[in-house]
Amino acid sequence: MLNILEITEKMAPNQKINYDRILKKMIEEWENAAVKPTILLHSCCAPCSTYTLEYLTSYADVTIYFANSNIHPRSEYKRREIVQQEFVAAFNQQTGNQVKFLAAPYEPNQFIQMVQEKGLTESPEGGKRCASCFQMRLDIVAEKAQELGYDYFGSALTLSPKKDSQLINSIGIDIQKFYQTNYLPSDFKKNNGYKRSIELCKEYDIYRQCYCGCLFAAKQQGVDLKEINQAAQGFLKEKGKAEQLKKSQLEVE
Ligand code: SF4
Ligand code: SF4
Repeated sequence: MLNILEITEKMAPNQKINYDRILKKMIEEWENAAVKPTILLHSCCAPCSTYTLEYLTSYADVTIYFANSNIHPRSEYKRREIVQQEFVAAFNQQTGNQVKFLAAPYEPNQFIQMVQEKGLTESPEGGKRCASCFQMRLDIVAEKAQELGYDYFGSALTLSPKKDSQLINSIGIDIQKFYQTNYLPSDFKKNNGYKRSIELCKEYDIYRQCYCGCLFAAKQQGVDLKEINQAAQGFLKEKGKAEQLKKSQLEVE
């Protein structure tokens, strides 16, 4: 499978890389070779995965990997995981695709410990803590991609206008050096990707959270985590009731 370094090595040093153009070049090569690669795509909640899946599934077999121990509290983590999983199911039903969904174990202490050890609790959103957070999650995704034999690993995070795509891509490229899988470059916010994600969120009626995920950024933004927890608990309770109802209806049938 084509590796990003085969493209970037031919470029002039210090040239700013357009990762969207590189992804398009890769896709062109896949099409010329008549291959449909497998991609393990990290996503931290449904919104960024909407347009990303609409785009990538025309060219590749995609699995969404929910690997986000940065999210706090646990109830909100579970809520985002369920919303992500439900979106994948609805997307498959609507489009006839067969996107798969996987979730990593939730290990919030590992994230909190990493942030504390690096002295990044007060780092602003978009700063060094976020770089370490991307690094932690992309590394988990690459490891899983290697274990399961995926051609590529990548992240839907580059769709968000709040996230630095240059940084995310350079971290992904560094990580691929340690694994037997290739980094999928991207800048999904290009080509009106973000705008399209908002349309798709409306179409699929997707929950959009009001903070990135971690305790530290939530505190800095003045997010009321008690309120978040309460809303998430309410959502999970309703989901539990709906599941029970579905089960009892199946038993009657
Ligand atoms: S960047 Fe924000 S909106 Fe996008 S998937 Fe992550 S938490 Fe969700
Ligand atoms: S603000 Fe978001 S990306 Fe940054 S450390 Fe927190 S959860 Fe991670």
